[in-house]
Amino acid sequence: MPETPEITAATQRTLQGQRLKYYIENEPAGDRVDQFLRAFAAVLEFSDYRPLLDSYCTSSAKCNRCAVSCPVYLATGDPRDIPCYRTNLLLDIYRRYFTIGGAVEARFSRSFELTDDVIDDMLEVFYRCTACRRCTRSCPMGVDHGLITRLGRYALSLIGIVPKALQVSVREQLEGDTHNTSKVPKEALMNTLEFLSEELEDILGVTMTFPVDQTDRDYVFYCAVSDYLMEPETLMGNAAVLYAAGDWDKWTIGTGNYDGINYGLFYSDWHLENIIKRLVAEVTRLRGRNVLIGECGHASRSAHDFVPVFGGKEAYPVVSFIEYTLDCIRKKRITLNPDIITERVTYHDPCNIARSGWIVEQPRDILRSFVKNFVDMVPHGQENYCCGGGGGLVSVDEIHDFRMEIGGRVKAEQLQKVHADIVIAPCANCKKQLKELVEYYELPCKVMGLHDLILKAIEIPGAKSPAERAEEAALLAV
Ligand code: SF4
Ligand code: SF4
Repeated sequence: MPETPEITAATQRTLQGQRLKYYIENEPAGDRVDQFLRAFAAVLEFSDYRPLLDSYCTSSAKCNRCAVSCPVYLATGDPRDIPCYRTNLLLDIYRRYFTIGGAVEARFSRSFELTDDVIDDMLEVFYRCTACRRCTRSCPMGVDHGLITRLGRYALSLIGIVPKALQVSVREQLEGDTHNTSKVPKEALMNTLEFLSEELEDILGVTMTFPVDQTDRDYVFYCAVSDYLMEPETLMGNAAVLYAAGDWDKWTIGTGNYDGINYGLFYSDWHLENIIKRLVAEVTRLRGRNVLIGECGHASRSAHDFVPVFGGKEAYPVVSFIEYTLDCIRKKRITLNPDIITERVTYHDPCNIARSGWIVEQPRDILRSFVKNFVDMVPHGQENYCCGGGGGLVSVDEIHDFRMEIGGRVKAEQLQKVHADIVIAPCANCKKQLKELVEYYELPCKVMGLHDLILKAIEIPGAKSPAERAEEAALLAV
């Protein structure tokens, strides 16, 4: 019996995947130029990038409009930081080595040649781009430089050129003992959840025992695993909303996989796919019905965009915690006290959920519902600037100076001008970068998660009131 088209396509995909896997798991032979060309060929074979590259090869208007929208170029003025310069590095290679026109041209004239120097150039400039995609909005031809950055990084990663921080995190998540990027063992997770319960009891005066490995729940919860170590207020805010909404028995954390981070989004489609499959497998194990993603830009985007692609028949709906909370407010399932937050508050749009996503007005609607003095920075929404640590750069400690002086300089100027006391950033990576910027530039503001602020204002039946909690917090701060 002939195979159905669906099976054929799936089989082909697996075979091509095996070929890519070879590049990932084996030391490639030959010199670097040869290795890169073979790796790029494997990526092109495995993926659907060709039509896009063919179109970009012919479409640039060479207008340089992309230059002035790029915060990296604005900070340096270096022509090598112009988005289309970077993109053209990869397009030159594609044109020369992977199109018939390029091959013919090379036979009859002196044409572009890939050298070690070009590879060095690529490895530098592809990791100076934060993949924020701000430039794409200003390109009249729709060239997506962030996507080209990812593709360039992908091919480079196959020949072993990838920042160690990203590589080590992804390896631990897919193959390590803990299966998460921060190497948090299950015992440490359980201890942290116990600690968070005790803290919540102190703050709110109610007992909440975090649900773990519960089956048949509406929501299986994922945050950036680093939140369990670094952002307890965000997690307690998430918990307070679920509790106040009466959904405490409708969610769970799974101990088989509790990390929503997906650094594959920044440098490797292969790893992106496998991390998504692990996430989906945990929801299946627990017979959950939805994936609930906490405050993390790239975790939200990768799950939202790629669970439907790689989740197969088990492609569960993905719910962002921001949307869940807004829905609870609109349906009057939770109440936020409008008299608690008196500071001037602004909002930073994480690129992955605003420009590359679908979350712009939702957090603003939440903030305006209980913050009297909310002000937007200029520009904001999909035009907002990246924190300067996007595309995974925030995880690379070795480039701290670059992130402060170049990647995040425009963001720091923006923060200076808005004169806010509190900057809300619903993303683990943005928070880390923005906190470092605030410290580096000595800005008089505090960076917090959205649910950290909600935790202060939420009314919970039977718990201490927000006013009582504010009084207690003020006493503790003295
Ligand atoms: S994606 Fe962002 S950082 Fe990269 S070139 Fe475009 S504007 Fe610059
Ligand atoms: S804005 Fe678009 S068309 Fe203009 S130079 Fe940049 S990539 Fe080319």
